[in-house]
Amino acid sequence: MGQVRQRIEGNAPEGNGIHWVVTLNRRNRAVFFALLFPVLGTHLDAVHANAATWTLLALQLLVYPQLVYWRAARARDPLRAEMQNLLLDGVLFGVWVAAWGFPLWITFMLFIAACLNVVIYMGLPGFWKGLAALVGGAAVAVLVNGFDFRPETGLLTSLLCILALTLYLLFFAHGAYERGISLRDSRRQLGERLDEITALQSRLQAQALRDPLTGLYNRRYLDQALERELAACHAAGTPLSLVLIDIDHFKRVNDTYGHQAGDEMIRGLSGLLTTHVNGAGLVVCRYGGEEFLLMLPGTDIDEAAVLAEALRQSFEAMRVEADGEAMRATLSIGISGYPQHLPDPQVLVREADLALYAAKLRGRNNVVLSTDPASRTT
Ligand code: GH3
Ligand code: MG
Ligand code: MG
Repeated sequence: MGQVRQRIEGNAPEGNGIHWVVTLNRRNRAVFFALLFPVLGTHLDAVHANAATWTLLALQLLVYPQLVYWRAARARDPLRAEMQNLLLDGVLFGVWVAAWGFPLWITFMLFIAACLNVVIYMGLPGFWKGLAALVGGAAVAVLVNGFDFRPETGLLTSLLCILALTLYLLFFAHGAYERGISLRDSRRQLGERLDEITALQSRLQAQALRDPLTGLYNRRYLDQALERELAACHAAGTPLSLVLIDIDHFKRVNDTYGHQAGDEMIRGLSGLLTTHVNGAGLVVCRYGGEEFLLMLPGTDIDEAAVLAEALRQSFEAMRVEADGEAMRATLSIGISGYPQHLPDPQVLVREADLALYAAKLRGRNNVVLSTDPASRTT
């Protein structure tokens, strides 16, 4: 039972909250048992069965399926109750075939039905359980009634048994086919969902490293990249420069033209920086509000100063349009570099920050190197 539970229980219950195995078996049992009524009826007719036998058979085939469904649906453990129902089917089939003296075609048909039903849920061990239920039912009937052996079945009964068995097997095969198809569809859908999730995940990962206003890398990315690149430059003995850029009196831009216009200026500067700084390994990052940081591996501090000066001049000459207004501003820039300082990201950022502060103190709109004594005295 534990194995059955493991294999079947992972599936969601039906919409009405009843376990799908119980619901499925109700349909299968109701259809197959109703089908059995005319088949077994021809045999009862042939052996001139009495009214009590007819009544019992009607109860077994038409009322019993509803009773066992009702029992399983209300059971505390519906799956367990339904597996017991399947075995009970086998026991009752055994009682019937023994009571009728084991008519060959009927015995064969009920044997197949009893065992197949259990094998579907329990695998091959289910065959032995189904068989044991059938034999157990037959043994009870033999003990009560005595052994009777009349294996002949009339031609009509035999033909109807063959037909019923064929329909039953087709029904099961079709069920297996449908389940195979739906399993394949579920797998495909699951695969598609997984692809969507993976794509979303990588998009989110990429977004987590970008600044939404400018699309530039953010500080989180820079912190990772600087650590990596600085270690690589240190190992290779090549320089690395940091250029920290800040828009002068940016608060005034916001106050004068509005926050949207301020955003436009930030985007304008971002465009200028990406146009000027686009070599392999070079990183332009929006470091904070109106502060940008360039990481330039392989560029020494003097080359960085030339680039920074060009940027300063370009920005000074630039007009940023917003709401029909042409805004202008200037940049203050601080630069630090390895090997002038220790190959430590925090040291390099702090040195660039000190140099930027010195640039502000010098009156803004200028570039200061961390190697400049002015950067130390602040
Ligand atoms: P300084 O020359 O000393 O750098 O002066 P400042 O006015 O540029 O410096 P401050 O740090 O006082 O002001 C920076 C302003 O930048 C304050 C803040 O409201 C604005 N800011 C920060 N992020 C954004 C943004 O994303 N968009 C806009 N429009 N403004 C921003
Ligand atoms: Mg600032
Ligand atoms: Mg500023």
